[in-house]
Amino acid sequence: MTEVDRQIIEWVEETPFVDTHEHLIEESQRLSGEIDRWFPCDDWSYVFSAYVANDLVVAGMSAADQQGLFGPGVSSDEKYRLIAPYWHRIRHTGYAQAVRHTIRGLYGEDDLTPESLPRIAEKYRNTVKPGFYANILRRANVECCQVNSMQRIFMESEQPALLTQDLSILEFCRCSPHDFVRVEAETGKSAATLDEWLGIIDFYFAAYSSKAVAVKCQIAYSRALDFAPVAKAHAARLFLHQVGKMRHALASEDLKALQDFLFRYCVEKAGQCGLPVKLHTGYLGTCGSMQLARVRDNAADLCRLLQDFPETRFVLMHIGYPYEQEFIALAKHYPNATIDMCWAWIINPGASVRFLKEFLLAVPATKIFTFGGDYVAVEPIYGHACVARRGIANVLSQLVAEGWVARQETPDLIERIMRGNALRFFRMNNDGLMDLPQLSARTG
Ligand SMILES: [Zn+2]
Repeated sequence: MTEVDRQIIEWVEETPFVDTHEHLIEESQRLSGEIDRWFPCDDWSYVFSAYVANDLVVAGMSAADQQGLFGPGVSSDEKYRLIAPYWHRIRHTGYAQAVRHTIRGLYGEDDLTPESLPRIAEKYRNTVKPGFYANILRRANVECCQVNSMQRIFMESEQPALLTQDLSILEFCRCSPHDFVRVEAETGKSAATLDEWLGIIDFYFAAYSSKAVAVKCQIAYSRALDFAPVAKAHAARLFLHQVGKMRHALASEDLKALQDFLFRYCVEKAGQCGLPVKLHTGYLGTCGSMQLARVRDNAADLCRLLQDFPETRFVLMHIGYPYEQEFIALAKHYPNATIDMCWAWIINPGASVRFLKEFLLAVPATKIFTFGGDYVAVEPIYGHACVARRGIANVLSQLVAEGWVARQETPDLIERIMRGNALRFFRMNNDGLMDLPQLSARTG
């Protein structure tokens, strides 16, 4: 390692991340121990649950064992017995490396072993104290997080400055029975017609757009991102079938058309409110279900949206992995496309290093955010940030060593990609739109 490499590592360590994507539940729920789908057990295994769980399953763990490992009411020793045969198989993956950095940094333990297990279990419990979210984020050198709540369409956080929030639009445009139930549970409102449904969407935007940092949609889990224009009268007829008086589910093509209309309605609203639109792209955080042909088309499918809404700022999340090259092309070509590397560092650290290096050589440096843990639990953000910092320092070292970037340019570049870009792009203080030089410079 050269002196320059060491200097770059120091600069990257010192620079706080503005974390652009998490799914954190509220700290008060962690403190109360109230178990639900997003907080299934209150013990050390919770720190291992996100993503590592997927690697364990694809490494051979049975569904029943996984349920035991991440369930409530199972002893610590029994949980260790369940994870041990698989832990050594996955310990080198990005998912597991983030957790290993976490137990090292937060609990002072090098690895999960029969000897360290009781200490890790105790340190997990001792960590969960009032203020522990802010404490862990401070130790991870994360300034603040943008949260996409899985529990509320918009979460009124108890810590709104630390945990800024996205307004989810998935429930407005997917049209699953579950979405209508959630909206009714939150608002007491239901819709029999498309106009009534649009009224409910307007209600959410009116109530929350001034508090939200962005709108967020992960509809790519269930469909392609090819949103075509649909006439309102057609959408209104389809809506009646889906939820209104007719009440029989639409065929997939008709459901797509209804979703297309509603999605574009939400994008339009977001644009009017000055809110960026964050979209899940690429790899899926599940196992055994991904349709790679659809994922492969994400970047190509997005072109129409980027063209049809030139004044709306789109944030394309997770680098579209494993098709990240296409996303470099999108960000380079479209003024309104920005890339968020959230989650990517732990899906594939090596691909993320290659991606960031090539991105910085092809695309304006203002068009990337380099960190989001994508976690429901706060603890592993620490380890994920370690993985991301290692990758960022590695990329800058390569760029300097190969003569692409001058050493004296690196502090400014580091500040931009880890922090400044996000602060300038999002309305972090709800004080109106920040500068949009890339949009005003748009050419045909
Ligand atoms: Zn996410």
